[in-house]
Amino acid sequence: MDQSAIDRLRDEPVGKQGLWIGGKSLPAASGAVLDVVSPIDGRTIGAIPDAGPEDVDRAVAAARAAFEKGSWSRAAPAERKKVLLRLADLIERNALELAVLGVRDNGTEIGMAYKAEPLSAAGTFRYYAEAIDKVYGEIAPTKPDVLGLIHREPLGVVGAIVPWNFPMMIGAWKAAPALAAGNSVVLKPAEIASLTLLRLAELAAEAGVPEGVFNVVTGRGGVAGEALGLSMDVDAIAFTGSGPVGRRLLEYSARSNLKRVHLELGGKSPNIVFADAPDLDRAAKVSAFGIFRNSGQVCVAGSRLLVQASIHDRFMEKLVAVTERMKVGDPLDLGTDSGAVSSAEQLAKNLGHVADAEREGARLVSGGRRLLEETGGFYMEPTIFEGVKPSMRLSREEVFGPVLAVTRFEDEADAVRLANSTVYGLASAVWTSDLGRAHRMVRAIRAGVVHVNTYGGADVTVPLGGFGQSGFGRDKSLHAFDKYTDLRTAWIALT
Ligand code: NAD
Repeated sequence: MDQSAIDRLRDEPVGKQGLWIGGKSLPAASGAVLDVVSPIDGRTIGAIPDAGPEDVDRAVAAARAAFEKGSWSRAAPAERKKVLLRLADLIERNALELAVLGVRDNGTEIGMAYKAEPLSAAGTFRYYAEAIDKVYGEIAPTKPDVLGLIHREPLGVVGAIVPWNFPMMIGAWKAAPALAAGNSVVLKPAEIASLTLLRLAELAAEAGVPEGVFNVVTGRGGVAGEALGLSMDVDAIAFTGSGPVGRRLLEYSARSNLKRVHLELGGKSPNIVFADAPDLDRAAKVSAFGIFRNSGQVCVAGSRLLVQASIHDRFMEKLVAVTERMKVGDPLDLGTDSGAVSSAEQLAKNLGHVADAEREGARLVSGGRRLLEETGGFYMEPTIFEGVKPSMRLSREEVFGPVLAVTRFEDEADAVRLANSTVYGLASAVWTSDLGRAHRMVRAIRAGVVHVNTYGGADVTVPLGGFGQSGFGRDKSLHAFDKYTDLRTAWIALT
């Protein structure tokens, strides 16, 4: 990746996009569109369809028809594998174009976006493509006069609803295993980050995914997302996003056809630094990047830093120094460490959290303000508060922005108590050189992932998902196939 190649793509026209339904690019039935506003400079760079319930119904009907036709759902797994491997290759071939398009849409710094978006999505499609022709059914250990066969089958139509922070990565976590297993998919991107997923649909068609098998419907959550959630012909919803919307999807399911709902929600993840951490300089650097990359808009961000009292002041000095060296700015500049906040609304929400934390008595030790307002874009200083009490809003609520809450602890029991003091349980980390303590903490912290002496970076081979109100169901790894397949028993009399 070099800067001049990025710069050649930064002003490419985006134009008016279409919905992707039944292998075609179409406007919304109403003709309505939503502006695509770039967080880099606040300018409108294009438009996406503002789909209504009739558009969602059309997409679901196309997905159902394709499923019933069977050219994908009943194809040999090895055939689906070939097509999905081609898709992975196409994503990789177009990686820079996809990465730049995504950054213009949601503001993630390009260095991170390039790896976390197209390259990660390509890897995910390749992983599930390679896996699907190694998945076997089972023969049950029955008595000898019967044969009990357990078939694993696709569900039918899967609705995938994804957030704006990593649309391609998270879209692929859902679409790749669902498609590999033989389902049809209707994907609903977030209204402020749809462009790369519309392009993904074109690439899927080019790779040979049959018409109607993969559809993308853009639009507002409360309209298009709700219609997908309430559809009587969607068999499962795979969702990543906020808790309140997750709750609604459970309600929609109850009010419609009892579709399965898999929820991957937010977090308030503790990052715990013990005095015996192997390398405090490294811990400080990784902790800063673990919250401030992508302006804190990372579901697993280590947004609560718990530091053992005996090293608290020394560690804070290092952390503040690393943080204040981070370069915030144009996300299409390769030298940027943290890009733009995704929207004006999110920036206002972040600044509201800063004001509340000050009002509640937390001490602001770095950042706290909007940056680069003259560009028209949405930027914010990496912000650190110390002395944050567990009762304060900053300890309890997800900001989803570059704001870190620091709390000191005395001993291991205190660290566990603080770590488990929120309703969430998505990610966490422990920094220690004591192997026994590391394993005790892995067992004691209520979180879907516990990092030890690192933060982030887990790949597609391991599951990601939450405990508590961070949701249920797991993306990634072979376990994801459980979300997109059903078991059928054949009980065959042999006499
Ligand atoms: P959000 O819940 O506002 O939106 C997510 C998606 O749901 C979007 O596509 C949106 O259009 C749609 N939606 C909104 N209202 C809807 C409704 N009434 N019915 C159906 N769909 C609706 O979340 P967001 O602001 O896009 O993303 C940020 C959240 O996502 C944070 O809480 C973050 O922690 C979470 N997240 C979790 C993970 C994970 O793996 N657990 C990963 C990334 C982000």
